[in-house]
Amino acid sequence: MIEVKLFRADLERGLNKQLFEISSEYFVDQAVEFAEAKITCSLTSEKQWHGYRLTGEISIPFFETCDRCLVEFTDQHTTEFFILLTNDSELSGAEDDDVIWFSDAENTVDIGPVIRELVLVEEPFKTICSVDCNGICPYCGANRNQENCGCNVDTVVDNRWENLKQIIK
Ligand SMILES: [Zn+2]
Ligand SMILES: [Zn+2]
Repeated sequence: MIEVKLFRADLERGLNKQLFEISSEYFVDQAVEFAEAKITCSLTSEKQWHGYRLTGEISIPFFETCDRCLVEFTDQHTTEFFILLTNDSELSGAEDDDVIWFSDAENTVDIGPVIRELVLVEEPFKTICSVDCNGICPYCGANRNQENCGCNVDTVVDNRWENLKQIIK
């Protein structure tokens, strides 16, 4: 079983930007790809009366294909998150916090499922390699970021009008 396990003893001492690796195996059932085999997240913990609050930062190297030019590229997303590990079943947490039940009887807690959801939410629906991506030429299929194929879309349209004008004459 894949998990991101935290030990109570470490939480008691407090985590300070400690790095954890999340295997991309976590996502084998999803249509999401990564440019690296591991995703790294850093965790800082803070002890509270009902448990621990985690502040994390995760950097996700999404492996994407540009919708405009079809080139594959790495779309690096960095996001901050908060997780509350609590023994208080009544607690719903602040709005931005994910809450995980962590009973006093347990010595370890798996935050893997929450991290997995965070990553899946980050995945972009639309992917463009760059805001100025010129896409593919509709006439010759060239990638217009890499070459100037010479097909001027306006010229082609103009020529059509020219032909039409000649027919009318
Ligand atoms: Zn592109
Ligand atoms: Zn072209």
